[in-house]
Amino acid sequence: MEVKTEQFVDVAKKEMQNTRTRQFLRLLPSGISRMRDRAMQSFPDPDAANEYSRAIRAEVIARLPELLEEFEKNATANGAKIVWAKTAAEANAFIVNLARERGVTYVTKGKSMITEEMGLNDALGENGIEPFESDLGEFIAQQLHRPPFHIVGPAINVPVEEINELFLAKANMKEPTTDPVKLGYAARLYLRDKFHHLAMGITGVNMAIAETGTILNVENEGNIRMSKSSPKIQVSVMSLEKVVPTMADAMHLIRLLCRNCTGQKLAAYISMDSGPKKQDEVDGPEELYIIILDNGRTEIYQDVQAREALRCIRCGACLNTCPIYSKIGGYPYGWAYSGPMGQVLTPLLLGLNKTHDLFHACTLCSACKSICPAGIDHPKMFLHYRMLEARGNKRKTGGLIPDKAAKLFDLWGWGAAKAWRWKIAVKTVRPFINRYAKDGVIQKAIAPLDGWFRTRDLPAMSKKTFHERWAKIKNGE
Ligand code: SF4
Repeated sequence: MEVKTEQFVDVAKKEMQNTRTRQFLRLLPSGISRMRDRAMQSFPDPDAANEYSRAIRAEVIARLPELLEEFEKNATANGAKIVWAKTAAEANAFIVNLARERGVTYVTKGKSMITEEMGLNDALGENGIEPFESDLGEFIAQQLHRPPFHIVGPAINVPVEEINELFLAKANMKEPTTDPVKLGYAARLYLRDKFHHLAMGITGVNMAIAETGTILNVENEGNIRMSKSSPKIQVSVMSLEKVVPTMADAMHLIRLLCRNCTGQKLAAYISMDSGPKKQDEVDGPEELYIIILDNGRTEIYQDVQAREALRCIRCGACLNTCPIYSKIGGYPYGWAYSGPMGQVLTPLLLGLNKTHDLFHACTLCSACKSICPAGIDHPKMFLHYRMLEARGNKRKTGGLIPDKAAKLFDLWGWGAAKAWRWKIAVKTVRPFINRYAKDGVIQKAIAPLDGWFRTRDLPAMSKKTFHERWAKIKNGE
């Protein structure tokens, strides 16, 4: 998937003019939020349920290295093969080589954000292996070459007329129709055929349970289960924070995940795999590979504030409460993760310099924080990124603030450090600023400062400094 995070502002402006997007955004996030609120009330004590899940995710972050080792030990004992991948390219290369070795020409995929992060579809396609997304929304988004619009409904905004044309052209649909049920049936027929002779299925992982070595998937369409049970080879990809300590923890997190994601008490399908198919079992793959992908997370983990982002369980609840997402939808975020979830994760994974507009596109209203079952304090994270940016932190950033602005701040700091310097500077610069700021000359010169002066004016400077006025008051003048 092409990274388009740097086009955030342009795409957001375009989407705000898109009548169809706006219609959807008026209904979708608030509708899912209402369903979520109703579902949460089915807990005897919703607040306690939230606190418990937040505590589980806090424990995961605190014990991440040891939990991963425990998971590896138990999953290996179950017969799974664990593959550690440092980068997305390494993970992609492993999958491509495995497919080539086994003569695989196509694979089916379950909906998984981690494989979008890796750009797996492109890597497979470039190597002559055709990937088929088997989740209906992902299948439509894949065929249209668009990023997901929403975590729950990746293509929910695509008009049925467009889907009709797409399916006639690419999904062997014979008769035109705009009936959603018939369109769904056409996709099912097309994809069902792919499962018949499937050699390799690829899925993500919702949770990896350390104490049992089990991987767990949550879904509503049954396509992940088909992708896991039909082929001889199953490849499941997880980012390393997907691990949870115990089965009891996983069971509680599922309850929160489903309620926050779709407003369901439980999704239609929960699949658990503890190793490949055993001798007396009917379904399941003969080989199970679990790829544990780092892709920069170890480095993120070194920063105690940034590592909080790894708590996320990808429920999507924060998207539905976010006043920004609710105006622009998922496309402007330009990559696998959208909404507050994306604003927290993407800067760490791609670097602050490529995602500047993402973590600035926030009112710091805390709606996302108040709802997050993983206990992420999104506004605090955005402020952390802004602080790193302001300090010119070069980690994965390649230079954060434009040079001119950084020099201006240096000069400012130097001038403000001594009272006499500040006094001379203010006396010299004040008339200049007062005269030119309004003419736009100053605004243009300092435009790289986040557009601050494009939408705001400098307050009029006092003719006298505070010290001068204070001296006057003290002297009773
Ligand atoms: S940040 Fe929190 S609310 Fe948003 S997707 Fe992740 S867990 Fe859910």
